[in-house]
Amino acid sequence: MKYYSTNGKAPLATLEKAVVKGLAEDKGLYMPERIKPLPSSFFDRIQDMTFQEIAYTVADAFFGEDIPSDTLREIVCDTLSFDVPVVPVTEKIYSLELFHGPTLAFKDVGARFMARLLGYFNKKENNNRLVNVLVATSGDTGSAVANGFLGVQGIHVYVLYPKGKVSPIQECQFTTLGQNITALEVDGVFDDCQALVKNAFMDEELNHHMKLTSANSINVARFLPQSFYYFYAYAQMKKRGLAENLVMCVPSGNFGNICSALFGKRMGLPVKRFIAANNANNVFYQYLKTGKYQPQASVQTIANAMDVGNPSNFARILDLYGNSHEAICNDISGATYQDSQIEDTIRECLNQTGYQLDPHGACGFRALQEGLSEGEVGVFLETAHPAKFKDTVDSIIDGEVEIPSRLAAFMKGKKQSVQISREFADFKSFLLSK
Ligand SMILES: *Cc1c(COP(=O)(O)O)cnc(C)c1O
Repeated sequence: MKYYSTNGKAPLATLEKAVVKGLAEDKGLYMPERIKPLPSSFFDRIQDMTFQEIAYTVADAFFGEDIPSDTLREIVCDTLSFDVPVVPVTEKIYSLELFHGPTLAFKDVGARFMARLLGYFNKKENNNRLVNVLVATSGDTGSAVANGFLGVQGIHVYVLYPKGKVSPIQECQFTTLGQNITALEVDGVFDDCQALVKNAFMDEELNHHMKLTSANSINVARFLPQSFYYFYAYAQMKKRGLAENLVMCVPSGNFGNICSALFGKRMGLPVKRFIAANNANNVFYQYLKTGKYQPQASVQTIANAMDVGNPSNFARILDLYGNSHEAICNDISGATYQDSQIEDTIRECLNQTGYQLDPHGACGFRALQEGLSEGEVGVFLETAHPAKFKDTVDSIIDGEVEIPSRLAAFMKGKKQSVQISREFADFKSFLLSK
């Protein structure tokens, strides 16, 4: 399978190139040339299949031409070493819990898959040259990528994060791992970290010295595997006899997650419609209303993983729907919530149902509460565990969110980081010494 660029000015790429490069030469996002529909026999028996079996079938449609089937099966099974259950919150609203992975957020799925795929390509080339992944993080991406790549042979990860600007819970998830993960504490802000990484990719001497790659969320190997759990959610709802008139609601920031759902729909996933739930950063919501896409500077909210003013994957959605505003509106509607509404939703949902939402999932839950029509059943994605945002959530509910043991385990580890300045020369000489 070949991959083309959404900007249309770059040559077609192999899967390997698309994964290693991340972004096309014309700065566009890679799209698979074909989206293969899955046979009706698959959907007939999907409710009796395991998550791994379902995911393998979906993965095979995208990656089967490029990866031997037993290798692909191994990558899929290894990636999905945890469950993604659908649990009832109200009679009509269900939560797809994506927080049972190592870092308690949905990004684990894509990061783990990409790590294993890159590991496979590296082994296949058999050149024994270490691949170095550089990733800048404001918190969550660093932990998903670091844990996703932890212990994967032939790969070393450098996580750059702004000193004193990530929460202690986030920091311990990428500074305590050791092994093939190095945390670099940058004396600066997130933008400085990002600039250091960008400069490194453009520096000829450095690229000559070592093999560099990024693990950005727009990478096809992080983005496409997210479609797996939409099929599994459908299977679980079908098992409950609730798969007719299914609405899926996705708390969205950079729109990678919902975009993978739309790929799923194109493959035949029988979901009636989707809702993209935004916080106060609502450019997509405005686009649905007006047909005009006007990127904004992002504003800070309590659902901070969705604080995106110019979602990268909008380009993929446009491409998928042939630039038709009407076609997009047929499949997706929008919702947008201010912090005060998110807080009320977390409090009311807990009081009325006993279910503890996180600030991101709260946007999804509320959009279903307000947006379901007669006869529809909704599933929202609970994209992170509430304990990841413990201080925020505790103050809203005037209580204590329990910290799951695997999160507590990170907090017991010993922090190890390398301090660097925000000058590129320092970062470069550090890498050249490796
Ligand atoms: C990244 C993230 C989102 C947003 O997902 P996108 O794919 O960027 O739309 C939502 N919730 C949480 C907890 C996240 O970490």
